Amino acid sequence: MPRFVVQLHHARAVHYDVRFELGGVLRSWAVPKGPSLDPGERRLAVAVPDHDLGHADYEGPAVIIWDEGGFELVREREGHLVVALEGHKLHGGFALTHTGAKHWILVKMDDAAARRGSDIVAEQPGSVRTGRTLG
Ligand code: MN
Repeated sequence: MPRFVVQLHHARAVHYDVRFELGGVLRSWAVPKGPSLDPGERRLAVAVPDHDLGHADYEGPAVIIWDEGGFELVREREGHLVVALEGHKLHGGFALTHTGAKHWILVKMDDAAARRGSDIVAEQPGSVRTGRTLG
């Protein structure tokens, strides 16, 4: 099963780098508010350059691995991607839809893993590898 990783990145603007192993690279989006398990939450996801696969293991002073695991590519067509995640915090279907230029929308599919009203990034802020949080 290919891997996905979500890295919390304290850059000038805090964001979550959501990366999927696709075509031998990590296809990547920067999500300012992070993923949500609430299908009613539409999260802006800005396409950013592919990273090499080794980057999925990177943690550093300004980066933690907020979630990781395997995923299945359920559907892919131009500007639309559906994935099924098996992470520690994120589960089930997520859709990424291109809305223009580098902008996409990330939304949880309304399936058994959906949790309306939840705020997973606030509930579980730490690294899934070490528990470390970024102040
Ligand atoms: Mn980043």
